[in-house]
Amino acid sequence: MNTSRKGFLGALSLATAFAGCSTTKGIQPTRFKPFEVPGLKPRPDFWKVRPAEIIELCESATKCSRKEVICHTPLGYPVYALFYGDFNDAPPQTNWSAGQGSTTYRNYYGRKQGGVQTFLFIAGVHGAEPETVAGAMNLIRMLETGRDFRGKVDDEMLGLVGKYRFIVVPCVNMDGRAISPDHLHEIDWVTFRKVSQGTWKDGSLVGWRGSKAWFPLPLDKVSYPGGYPNADGYNIMHDAAPGDIRTEECRSLLKLAARWRVDAVLNGHSYESEPSVLQPSGIDYPEKLARARDIRYQCNLALHKAGIKKLAPKPPAEDRLPGPGFNMNNMFALASGALTLTLECSVSYDKADRPHARAKPERLYTFDEFIQTTYVTLKAFLAAGLEKPFVNRGPEIVYRD
Ligand SMILES: [Zn+2]
Repeated sequence: MNTSRKGFLGALSLATAFAGCSTTKGIQPTRFKPFEVPGLKPRPDFWKVRPAEIIELCESATKCSRKEVICHTPLGYPVYALFYGDFNDAPPQTNWSAGQGSTTYRNYYGRKQGGVQTFLFIAGVHGAEPETVAGAMNLIRMLETGRDFRGKVDDEMLGLVGKYRFIVVPCVNMDGRAISPDHLHEIDWVTFRKVSQGTWKDGSLVGWRGSKAWFPLPLDKVSYPGGYPNADGYNIMHDAAPGDIRTEECRSLLKLAARWRVDAVLNGHSYESEPSVLQPSGIDYPEKLARARDIRYQCNLALHKAGIKKLAPKPPAEDRLPGPGFNMNNMFALASGALTLTLECSVSYDKADRPHARAKPERLYTFDEFIQTTYVTLKAFLAAGLEKPFVNRGPEIVYRD
């Protein structure tokens, strides 16, 4: 176990939090009052998504081979990474950018490709989106005790994870989580928007795209910032301008990927529609993009077969180009060459419950189905990497000069 001294000291101060204090040494109180949804139904017992619960589970984990607090958030919350598998390799002698252009990719990668790959699962980059955090927490519980918080065993998952070096970061944006409700089940679209991206001082919605007009969100102009950004107002998912990385959360994740030569990343999010693995952005090697689109298809097909997606996805069309948007996923590609996909779980319905919308929701998902959405996607992603390595890192000898 490699729990850092900082993590250990953090745990000591957090013991006070569990004793009932709302603030602890090292963790500051939130600037904005946590959002309360009137009449929100009680969460099931297996739905562990509160910062104190995340800290408690990570601090008590003993089956992992390594444990790190990769950074602290602006409010002082620890961000944990738990490692499962063999992580005893020395740091790379070069970075991925130089290494892929050097005499051999092995100067960065350390090993010959085709062996055990390294997979990173991150959740809660947007703190208002707790579904994949709950999925990650249940997965950690299963890796630690053999059963998840539902009391269920998923042997297929345990077998797949065991074939990788597996890193899980159950909640990146602990600040956003600290002011967000436990869940957004059966809430209307307007409340979803308020909880997620917040409201200006006049009460109007900041909005999903509207929130991206600012970096950081001007906190003196909002009545509530939403659980989307961290406590400094930064949307960590878009902390993706090279040379101008603003958040420790993003910086430490990229360092984590680079240090451990991560081959693939699943980035867990939620939105107000049927669960789906999103199209990768176009900023990557063409060969890896084609592979990412194929794995995306396999994940969505698995969600369809599991009864979570209504329609079977269409195989990726060769001539359809990915969109121009880019975000932290692309930074992982630059940091370690990782093939990265975003899972959007639903927060409630299969369609947004928008006012005046013609298409109304037809299906209400259960909390259990939210956990399954993470599990099914993760298993399809991990299985795809066993058929063929996620990344073609190039020939072993590229140049002899
Ligand atoms: Zn999100």
